[in-house]
Amino acid sequence: MRSRPVISFCLLFIVFTAGNTKILSQEDKYAALRKEMVNKQIVANGIRNPLTIKAMLKVPRHLFVPAGLIDRAYEDSPLPIGHNQTISQPFIVAYMTELSRPSKNKKVLEIGTGSGYQAAILAEIVDTVYTIEIIPELAREASQRLARLGYGNVVVKAGDGYVGWKEHAPFDIIMVTAAADHIPEPLLNQLAENGRLIMPVGPPSSAQYIYLAVKKNGRIEKTRLAMVRFVPLLRSQ
Ligand code: SAH
Repeated sequence: MRSRPVISFCLLFIVFTAGNTKILSQEDKYAALRKEMVNKQIVANGIRNPLTIKAMLKVPRHLFVPAGLIDRAYEDSPLPIGHNQTISQPFIVAYMTELSRPSKNKKVLEIGTGSGYQAAILAEIVDTVYTIEIIPELAREASQRLARLGYGNVVVKAGDGYVGWKEHAPFDIIMVTAAADHIPEPLLNQLAENGRLIMPVGPPSSAQYIYLAVKKNGRIEKTRLAMVRFVPLLRSQ
């Protein structure tokens, strides 16, 4: 009679351990895919910033894509996230992150939260990330996802990011992950001294370039960099 609880306890233990092993090996599988992504797509293409590489190795990109695309999360391409929007290609995320020169005490504004992946990468490195998403459903999903994954230092807002986020300005880094034919003036105004703004500029679905804008002595210096293709920056009515 007395052995029964012991047996059930043992059984429970085995079931619990087996369940955990399964979860662990799944996570191991994704960690291995992430390592391969970082080696072949990020480091092989010239990204050197250790903080950027560390963040790309850590953030579980497969939890930022729709469930049906989970096995493609570590491919060298952007992926659809619904509402005609995409999560950017891993290399582009790493490239823009490195360009922003992120470090611990910096305050970031991101325009175009999308899945929340770029925000999570930055949040691994900097103090706080404020991010604005114009499609309310995406803003809500990203906010919940980031909270679930423990990114308490990311603040998501639904709205038109063209006007920036005055209450929290100035920002050390402003990253725009949607393209327009010019850099919005309000964003340049909300950039801190020595702050860096990174944004794709160019006509929709044609040649766009990443621009780096740096504020020096209150003046903006712009540099045109890599050719890219981003979804358009939308405007609210
Ligand atoms: N950074 C995202 C991908 C960006 S896709 C990620 O890591 O997943 C571009 C996003 O910008 C889309 O979600 C789109 O809805 C959003 N967007 C477009 N125009 C915007 C605007 N004016 N303000 C805020 N978000 C905007």
